[in-house]
Amino acid sequence: MHQVYSKMIIDGKKIAAELREDLKKKVVELKSKYNSVPGLTVILVGEDAPSKIYVKNKEKFAKEVGMNSEVIKYSEKIEEKVLLNKIEELNNDKKVSGILVQLPLPKHIDKRKVIETIDHKKDVDGFHPMNVGNLSSGYDSSIPCTPLGCSLLLKKIEKNLSGKHAVVIGRSNLNGKPMTQLLLKENCTVTITHSKTKDLKKECLRADIIIAAVGMPRLVKGDWVKKGAIVIDVGINKTDSGIVGDVDFDEVSKVAKAITPVPGGVGPMTIACLLNNTVECFKKTHSN
Ligand code: NAP
Repeated sequence: MHQVYSKMIIDGKKIAAELREDLKKKVVELKSKYNSVPGLTVILVGEDAPSKIYVKNKEKFAKEVGMNSEVIKYSEKIEEKVLLNKIEELNNDKKVSGILVQLPLPKHIDKRKVIETIDHKKDVDGFHPMNVGNLSSGYDSSIPCTPLGCSLLLKKIEKNLSGKHAVVIGRSNLNGKPMTQLLLKENCTVTITHSKTKDLKKECLRADIIIAAVGMPRLVKGDWVKKGAIVIDVGINKTDSGIVGDVDFDEVSKVAKAITPVPGGVGPMTIACLLNNTVECFKKTHSN
């Protein structure tokens, strides 16, 4: 078995690279079976600097695993109707397996309408209500990339999560809620916490697994964590001392059994899972 963490630090970069290697092989197999490869189309609206970096990386890694990759760029003044029409066009394009509209969108565009216009079979982000519903019903679905990445990291550390008490901090549609569904699927007992939770420290101290997806630098302290817990840090926070997570890494790494660093933990898994979802969408559109 691979050594997936040393000194209890989960190497998300390495695990993501392994996942991309597997995907590269899958793409070759699909090409020989269907004479075509999965294609990811990303739509970028406006000039948001972090979005531009994310999209560039998505394109780079999609190409690296042998997929087709296309980025469609629009000015932030684009009319909603034009964007929705483009999505419809992509829904009907056989070369496109996965469609991702990079968020955030300008205020005049209805995010919900955009998400609902994407064919759920091409929804690589797993945000379409059909996929959200399927995930919570325990059916096959596209799974949001970041929680999927967290779940894969957890399974590398502990194959059987059954009966573990997991505490999820944050209840966003992007992270907290789908993460909860994935943990339930693994038979964890899940506590989901948020900004109105009364005693977050007390909740965390009961956890065998903590998933922090908040957006507050170093919120989770060393004395919030039970000895031997697994801690997955989703947070990406810009501070004067650089990018840090939602977990106080220096303190928590002394008590946790395993912990993800920021950067280099969950982040790299997110893009690898996006590519994984694109392959899965390709399979769905080629199975009928
Ligand atoms: P979000 O939509 O802003 O949700 C944050 C959640 O944290 C909300 O549910 C909020 O509660 C909760 N919260 C806020 N303050 C809290 C507190 N003091 N105690 C407990 N819970 C609190 O954020 P998000 O989109 O899920 O992102 C969370 C973090 O993950 C951000 O740092 C983001 O940059 C990062 N992120 C990382 C990746 C990656 O690839 N690694 C991907 C996506 C996001 P309420 O619901 O009550 O407001």
